[in-house]
Amino acid sequence: MTPATRYRAATRIIVLIAAAALLAACSGTGGTVTTDGTTDGPDDGYPDRTITFVVPFSAGGPTDTLTRMIADPMAAKLGGKIVVQNVEGAGGTVGAGEVARAQPDGYTVLMHHIGMSTAPALYKDLGYRPLESFETVGLVTEVPMTIVSRKDFGPATLQDLVSYVKANADKVTLANAGIGAASHLCGLLFQTAAGVELQEVPYEGTGPALTDLVGGKVDVMCDQTTSTSGQIAAHEVKVYAVTTPERVTSLPDVPTTAEAGLPQLQVSVWHGLYVPHGTPPDVVTKLSEALKTALADQKVIDQMAKLGTAPVPAGQATPEAHKAKLQEQLGTWGKVIADAGIKAS
Ligand code: ASP
Repeated sequence: MTPATRYRAATRIIVLIAAAALLAACSGTGGTVTTDGTTDGPDDGYPDRTITFVVPFSAGGPTDTLTRMIADPMAAKLGGKIVVQNVEGAGGTVGAGEVARAQPDGYTVLMHHIGMSTAPALYKDLGYRPLESFETVGLVTEVPMTIVSRKDFGPATLQDLVSYVKANADKVTLANAGIGAASHLCGLLFQTAAGVELQEVPYEGTGPALTDLVGGKVDVMCDQTTSTSGQIAAHEVKVYAVTTPERVTSLPDVPTTAEAGLPQLQVSVWHGLYVPHGTPPDVVTKLSEALKTALADQKVIDQMAKLGTAPVPAGQATPEAHKAKLQEQLGTWGKVIADAGIKAS
């Protein structure tokens, strides 16, 4: 946040708190007066002002899309207001660092993905530690990835693509959303599986990367179905495969990497919500309950299905399940990255 934005946000919050206090005094209902002026739920304090959901990637990408999808139903359940803020940079580590340093009061929440488990192995001076700097709130969804190219790129199938990039490794560009982003990992797995090294072009999120892919400025990318589905349906990009063992229901004609001859390339991207370490447990519980409610919302389920994914089962939208997943993934990706000898800084 720039000082000007912080000042504006602080001013808005002061005005809203004053308005809320006035409304509470006038109504005498004892209910929580929310920041949008409504009275809702028991008067138990949280939330009494706007909650900021930080997305560590650009607007228009999959992390941003998912966050905006669950923000409204979560706000309704919490009886408050949620705004989404994009704090992009360095494969999601800039936004994550900002949340790690925020007040542990439940008003700053991070939506992150698999990158939370890859960053410690990639970055020397991360400035936060995934297990120690945050409280886990709950898992959100697990999203398949797609290997896509600009629509006029020559190769027609995944096997053609592999042959082509092998023969033209010095010319082919591979976009990603930053070092440590899911697209970076998938790109690495693709290069390893194909036995090539391509020219990587990092962006600050899938939003701008996909714009350049559609515009023909880069050749290939691997990214979540939550961002590529629209462009695939509109024939704005060419799709080669999905990276999951099963085909994706919303993309029934797209083969899996195994069907297309690259079975070693399998990856899907899990997302979860975090708050800074030290956030009161009852606040974490409220956020987790609101997350469960959002994930059971039929509109959210339908929106996710259209984009090739689904909410996690309710039992995984919990701090405990999320922490266990993070622990396991830190081990898995730490080893993959160390074996591959990759470093971002
Ligand atoms: N899909 C991006 C990634 O590769 C991140 C994003 O923009 O949501 O990690």
